[in-house]
Amino acid sequence: MSKSVKTIFINNKWSESSNHDTINVVAPSTGASIGEISRGDKADIDLAVAAARQAFEGVWGNTAAADRGRLLSRLGLKIAEHAEELAQLEALDTGKAMKLARNDIAATARYFEYYGGAADKLHGDTIPFLNDYQVLIIREPRGVAGHIIPWNYPAQMFGRTIAAALAAGNTTVLKPAEEACLSIIRLTELAHEVGIPAGVLNVVTGNGDEAGAALSSHKDIDFLSFTGSPEVGTLIQKAAADNHVPCVLELGGKSPQIVFDDADIEKALPVIVGAIIQNTGQTCSAGSRVLIQRTIYEEFVTALAKRMNGVRVGSHDADLDCGPVISAVQRDRVNGFLDRAKADGIAVIGQGKLDPSAVSGGFYIKPTLLGPVDEEHELAQDEVFGPVLVAIPFDDEDDALRIANGTEFGLIAGIWTENGGRQMRLAKKLRVGQVYINGYGAGGGIELPFGGFKRSGHGREKGFEALKEYTVSKTIVINHK
Ligand code: NAP
Ligand code: MG
Repeated sequence: MSKSVKTIFINNKWSESSNHDTINVVAPSTGASIGEISRGDKADIDLAVAAARQAFEGVWGNTAAADRGRLLSRLGLKIAEHAEELAQLEALDTGKAMKLARNDIAATARYFEYYGGAADKLHGDTIPFLNDYQVLIIREPRGVAGHIIPWNYPAQMFGRTIAAALAAGNTTVLKPAEEACLSIIRLTELAHEVGIPAGVLNVVTGNGDEAGAALSSHKDIDFLSFTGSPEVGTLIQKAAADNHVPCVLELGGKSPQIVFDDADIEKALPVIVGAIIQNTGQTCSAGSRVLIQRTIYEEFVTALAKRMNGVRVGSHDADLDCGPVISAVQRDRVNGFLDRAKADGIAVIGQGKLDPSAVSGGFYIKPTLLGPVDEEHELAQDEVFGPVLVAIPFDDEDDALRIANGTEFGLIAGIWTENGGRQMRLAKKLRVGQVYINGYGAGGGIELPFGGFKRSGHGREKGFEALKEYTVSKTIVINHK
């Protein structure tokens, strides 16, 4: 194993991990090794947090909001200039189809453009108080922010969490997922090139239970942003609680698409299929349950199955509807759900096909529609995180709402109906962070606040809401008598 792998970035310098150890990087399309990353641990996290602290108290704290914004906007432009190179790296590393990788990089650039523009627009407030007093509410950055992110959308996650944190004036330490961080390493080089000062953005590659645990339990961080599984989210929140560190948790989902018998079916069908096959189902806000009014159940699932049968799966560079999943572990996990469904007698009603580019070493799964699935079955309750869609019939509006809200998750939902009153009634009663009416945007919308209820997490990212998370208010009371 090579000992000169330098993927840790602290104080604008690339280094090996303190333990000199590395982690193998695998391409999901073939299963072949494509390189190594440094296995950072607590020693590296300590150095990164110290660098971020120094930059927060020094250079970044002294940088005017407009200048912070200008640097972020410049990084957005730089990412756009390198879009094709970054998209190829992202597709190779995660297995996602090229067209999705290209979308992801465009979104990453847009995050820096959006938050670059927002940096100097975070206004404070004034409050009427006693006579002879003036009260000001100002918003200040939290300080040093720790970021722990998953492997499904590495570049986009970098944009979503880092751009917002830096725009608000924080300095950052990022621990990307060990399975996919090549685009993040390249994005960090570009950040350096545009002149983000030393210590403002630090990246420590490594394993979750080492580098990730060291970051989440660090005593000198001021805020934690975690995106990942509910199980690890629990560990993160416990670690943060020990140090009284506030955190935003973006966790999993079991998001419903609710189709009423007055819906525009032709409009709904491609969106519903797209929302489960996007990124091969490895999207927190994948539409993984389709709730169908019983009066149109047979007709609708037949049409849905036909579309699912047409979905094609292949290598990232074949650029089909779906690529492989991220790893053998993930493939086996998803297949476990399918095997148990079969044993329980649940019918497969539609299934995509493997293209010849889906070679045997890669981690391929056929996108699958199953139904009818009982609302209590694990397939209707647990996050599969693969291209598996379950069809569940319902009777009326109340029944649909009960089933839709009847999981431990609450991330997003789609409602398909032409009835305006029903659209708003349901939108208000669904316990989710985003509701789409006659549409669906899995993971979409840089401008749109996003986050969960229940086991899907708490706090909001994206849009201006993220800037509220990454800042804290201070009340200044002036007696001017
Ligand atoms: P994961 O296993 O929870 O990992 C997420 C991150 O946490 C990775 O960087 C991981 O590092 C790290 N980690 C693992 N154990 C840790 C520990 N003990 N302490 C600190 N950090 C630790 O999740 P995943 O499998 O990568 O991602 C899939 C999950 O993310 C799904 O549940 C999905 O729904 C959720 N997700 C949510 C959103 C959202 O915005 N709501 C978006 C995308 C994904 P290593 O992997 O390197 O070990
Ligand atoms: Mg990889």
